[in-house]
Amino acid sequence: MEAFYTLKSFQNKIDSLGKDNSIAFVPTMGALHKGHLSLIKKAKKENDVVVVSIFVNPTQFDNKDDLKNYPITLENDLKLLKKVNCDLVLIPKVKEIYPTKITSEHFEFGGIENEMEGKFRKGHFNGVGTIVKRLFEIVKPHKAYFGEKDFQQLQIIKKLVEIEKLPIKVIGCKIFREKDGLAMSSRNARLTTKCRDAAPFIYKILKKVKKKFKKKDFMDSEEISAIEKWVEKKLKKQSDLTLEYFTIANESTLKNSSDNQHNPRAFIAAFAGEIRLIDNIAL
Ligand code: AMP
Repeated sequence: MEAFYTLKSFQNKIDSLGKDNSIAFVPTMGALHKGHLSLIKKAKKENDVVVVSIFVNPTQFDNKDDLKNYPITLENDLKLLKKVNCDLVLIPKVKEIYPTKITSEHFEFGGIENEMEGKFRKGHFNGVGTIVKRLFEIVKPHKAYFGEKDFQQLQIIKKLVEIEKLPIKVIGCKIFREKDGLAMSSRNARLTTKCRDAAPFIYKILKKVKKKFKKKDFMDSEEISAIEKWVEKKLKKQSDLTLEYFTIANESTLKNSSDNQHNPRAFIAAFAGEIRLIDNIAL
């Protein structure tokens, strides 16, 4: 495994690879866990060369404290990457990615950027679009791997590739969970013991919603809205969790579902203490 700290050294390496090599790319913000590693292992199986980037992208944080407190565990990350036989690691400096000003490009993703996370994290997807577009230009991958944990982000990246007409196949990867169901996240390390104990409820409630869906052949918008209210009520009873949103939406448009016939998925965002957690489930 080789690690690169400047764009120039990385680009020299990429340019030296033969055209016949298929290049896979897994962008991350570091503080790696088994969820990240599952993406890398999948990429490794399906390609010749796997590139992982570690970059805490300032423009996608709408909350300054969240950025300031974002865990950085570079030494351990490099050890983990070596273990899973990652080929190239790109660890660029902010100054190289944003040479003049730390600011985002503005994107129109056909409306999906305004749903859910877009409503609660202003500018987040412009920041995501900016950094992923920039990293795609640098890495020039054939395939890029993103987790369904950030399902809306995955859809945004697919749209980005379509809008920018990039020759990159975007591949969604299953959510990797702790034994108790909590979706793995770099932010989990910052949960207090009390909040860590409370957090698995998020996945528990998603599974209950899925069960309710399975029982019915058809559900109209009123029934769906009743389920959403039921989840809100259940979350209110959890003293260590504060619901930000729960919604059942169509997987492609990400708009609130009017019935359960068209790829519905349940999405949730909740605070466990100060830590914001997101999760989702196909229904
Ligand atoms: P992050 O470092 O949080 O920006 O995540 C980097 C990539 O890993 C993104 O594509 C995430 O969706 C993905 N990812 C993070 N957590 C998980 C997880 N628990 N399961 C699967 N993919 C994940």
